[in-house]
Amino acid sequence: MTKQQKLDDIKAQILADKVCPDLAKTATQLVFGDGNPSADIVFIGEAPGKQEDIQGLPFVGAAGKFLNEMLETIGLKRQDVYITNIVKYRPPENRDPLPDEKLAFLPYLKEQLSAIKPKLVVTLGRHSMEALIPGQRISDCHGQPKRFQGQVYLPLFHPAAALYNGGMRQTLIDDFMKIPAILAKI
Ligand code: URA
Repeated sequence: MTKQQKLDDIKAQILADKVCPDLAKTATQLVFGDGNPSADIVFIGEAPGKQEDIQGLPFVGAAGKFLNEMLETIGLKRQDVYITNIVKYRPPENRDPLPDEKLAFLPYLKEQLSAIKPKLVVTLGRHSMEALIPGQRISDCHGQPKRFQGQVYLPLFHPAAALYNGGMRQTLIDDFMKIPAILAKI
């Protein structure tokens, strides 16, 4: 089975298992993931927003534009990486995902990572970080690679949070620039 076939199966399984039916009801569609199934890097955000819900793709709104710009500065395009979220339906009014919702989607996120087998997993914001590498504080650990259960993670601030916050924005850009060197060392 190819990596793409494995990903297609996981997507079908989320629908068959009726994960988070309340969220599914208020959302337009499942936003599963986008990009290269053979990528070395997987980026994991929080949950789809309005644009993502409409288009069915992660990070296609303002935060996605910022993410694309940062990718370009390190010589990568979206098609070179894989992008997904911990929660795969848009929460109503863009509220924070609930602990139960993150827990419900976590096994499928882990299966996505097992299918892709990336060298580096970049968590964007605290929700995906807390789900995958528990016991960390984003303010302390951002920009520092961490090996956990055989996988290298890089926790970063969320591009939506950093977009309009000058200090955080520069910190995110500086942390992002470390990605090529971190990848080369793995
Ligand atoms: N923010 C996220 O966390 N994920 C998206 O897909 C878009 C915005």
